[in-house]
Amino acid sequence: MTLTAPPRLLLVHAHPDDESLWTGGTIARYAANGAHVTLVTCTLGEEGEIIPDGLALLAAAEADQLGGYRNGELRAACAALGVVDHRYLGGIGRWRDSGMVGVESNGHPRAFVQGSTDEQVDALLAVLRDVKPDVVVTYGPDGGYGHPDHIRAHDITMAACAQAEVDRIFHVVTSKKATDAGVGELAAVPDLPFRLPRPGELPVTDDGVITTVVPVADHLDAKLRALRAHQTQISVWQNDSGWSCYALSNGIAQPIVDSEYYVLAAGRAAGAATDLFGGL
Ligand SMILES: [Zn+2]
Repeated sequence: MTLTAPPRLLLVHAHPDDESLWTGGTIARYAANGAHVTLVTCTLGEEGEIIPDGLALLAAAEADQLGGYRNGELRAACAALGVVDHRYLGGIGRWRDSGMVGVESNGHPRAFVQGSTDEQVDALLAVLRDVKPDVVVTYGPDGGYGHPDHIRAHDITMAACAQAEVDRIFHVVTSKKATDAGVGELAAVPDLPFRLPRPGELPVTDDGVITTVVPVADHLDAKLRALRAHQTQISVWQNDSGWSCYALSNGIAQPIVDSEYYVLAAGRAAGAATDLFGGL
């Protein structure tokens, strides 16, 4: 055991809600077990689609207040997950949500993808040198599902980690097998308020490349609370029989599975099968 206690986990996410959607169980698990968890969020999510009708006028094309509102949602999610160290890359408001690929907001002068990669790497490097994490988590090279801000988050994280001393880097992914099984179970739920995904509709990763499965069944209550905190972005549904799932603004049911899945991108593989810190 060469780790200095407590172990330090740092996650880089593009928008408020990504921490909960992708890694909520993992954050809750390690925070509950005494790890120091640092969350770095790259933008305020100004371009997100708004689900509740009553909040529609926060949108970029209207009052343009969604980013500030989502900061409040993120604070509530962090409280649910046990994140005590949350930072915005470059400080709150430095870079703006670029929006989905090909939309006009990609060209906004403050859009994250328009920003200087060097400046963004330096901003993350400053955090890495301050926190000195043992393990860093971000998305794979495709950003998980192709969103330009997720791809940029991946790019700057890999570049910054190359200049810092990090024991392991993981890319968070969605398991095809677990998603298929979860969707199969949801198909049998009679009162589901969302439509089921068509085969291949949800972005997933083949399980053959997954190196690390973190069990989060004991932390799904915290993950659900965090997902609920992002009410502008996520609809969470639970019934009396204990079934739960969520949908984004597209209204497609997505299962909440009892593990979170990673691909080890750098660092020692031994001991990493079920624990991001295993064997360190
Ligand atoms: Zn995102």
